[in-house]
Amino acid sequence: MRKKLAAGNWKMNGLKSNLGEVSALTQAHPSPACDVLLCPPATLIGAMAEAAGGKLAVGGQDCHMNESGAHTGDISAQMIADAGGSYVIVGHSERRADHHESDLIVRAKAEAAIGAGLIAVICVGETEAQRDGEQTLDVIGEQLAGSVPDGATAANCVIAYEPVWAIGTGRTPTLEQIAEVHDFMRNTLVARFADEGNGMRLLYGGSVKPSNAEEIFATSNVDGALVGGASLKASDFGAIIAAL
Ligand code: PEP
Repeated sequence: MRKKLAAGNWKMNGLKSNLGEVSALTQAHPSPACDVLLCPPATLIGAMAEAAGGKLAVGGQDCHMNESGAHTGDISAQMIADAGGSYVIVGHSERRADHHESDLIVRAKAEAAIGAGLIAVICVGETEAQRDGEQTLDVIGEQLAGSVPDGATAANCVIAYEPVWAIGTGRTPTLEQIAEVHDFMRNTLVARFADEGNGMRLLYGGSVKPSNAEEIFATSNVDGALVGGASLKASDFGAIIAAL
């Protein structure tokens, strides 16, 4: 049985003054039916973990593939764990685009995350041109093959399907399109990882909000959501948690 996961990605938003959202969330949802994760900017991981007091999980939005060294401005998976994080997002489409991260790099980051004891949330997703060109399943298959490490298990790895054209745009795929990709991902992961692939949680991400959460969560092989904009406010994210 896969436990559902509501994961929030604050992206480059949030100051210490916004940590009140965490206590508002844990007070409004003291015992959620699903796992809850918030990934703030690296500067807030420690303070958010403290504010959460174990009532929700905290994670990073990216990590370097190495444990330490001359990589100015980067942070390692071990540092995220040391600050109180238990998850890290890798391969978000904004990282793939802005920092030219290939599947090979994403896989190395996921390996580093797992090695540091974190759960890697590995993101995949097609661009609008790829969907229009009917390449979606080929792209997702290629990204899964390239980005998910051989050591991935149901316990150390979560996969997030995020169509690039749905992120921050207010547009979402149809439920049939989400089901098609999630069923495909499940079959692909089971073919490679057998039972572990069956246990891996598959999140949908891209313009999830309180008004569409329930129908998306009822879709085949959707085990939760990776939420950007609607994770910033406890009221919105709380409503999404309640829909899971
Ligand atoms: C995201 O950045 O992972 C995301 C899904 O963003 P939004 O929910 O704002 O579309």
